[in-house]
Amino acid sequence: MEFKRRGVMLVLASPSGAGKSSISRALFGADPQIKLSVSVTTRARRTDEVDGKHYYFRDVPTFEHMREAGELLEWARVHDNFYATPRAQVEEELTAGNDILFDIDFQGTLQLYEKCREDMVTVFILPPSIVELRARLERRAQDSKGTIDKRLKNARIEMDHYGEYDYVLVNRDLEESVGKVRTILAAARLRRSRLQGLDSFVKDLQVQIDMP
Ligand code: 5GP
Repeated sequence: MEFKRRGVMLVLASPSGAGKSSISRALFGADPQIKLSVSVTTRARRTDEVDGKHYYFRDVPTFEHMREAGELLEWARVHDNFYATPRAQVEEELTAGNDILFDIDFQGTLQLYEKCREDMVTVFILPPSIVELRARLERRAQDSKGTIDKRLKNARIEMDHYGEYDYVLVNRDLEESVGKVRTILAAARLRRSRLQGLDSFVKDLQVQIDMP
């Protein structure tokens, strides 16, 4: 018996540079049931980013309009820019039985806990060391020295929040970390609260006992 299931909201959080984007890409690329939540942001587009794929890049007035119109499931100010999750895609995918991967910060995660805790499983990713974190930020070479310093300061704040997540991983090795997140997702998919038609299945089993 295969039950139809509601999708999982899988939140991956970490300081920038801890490897979250590489983990997300690996998970997303290998499993058609996983969709990415595309956030709205007011930050400038990096050269390798595509509007509508990595983010919806919008100016501040447009962002504020979306927020006032209730189109955002959560929003936060990170590194002096606004970031938010549009509401529509999320409900659509969950109902269709697809999982959604969120790359959002702790402020956004806390807002989602208030609205959708039953649908969520959350993972916090730590870098193996600060030397490694700094090296990853520098390798990316997309940001100025000032921006990297700001991201490191923000990493410190972000790390205070590891205790608010269901799982914590130290990302020493990409493949190993991807494997662990897959295990977490596999278990989350099996949660009783996600299985549709379970009540009637059990009732039917009981009826078969009552009327042999
Ligand atoms: P970046 O500028 O490097 O793409 O992202 C910076 C930070 O913003 C990351 O920590 C990322 O998790 C967070 N972020 C990206 N999208 C969202 C969002 O929709 N909501 C919230 N709350 N944070 C986000």
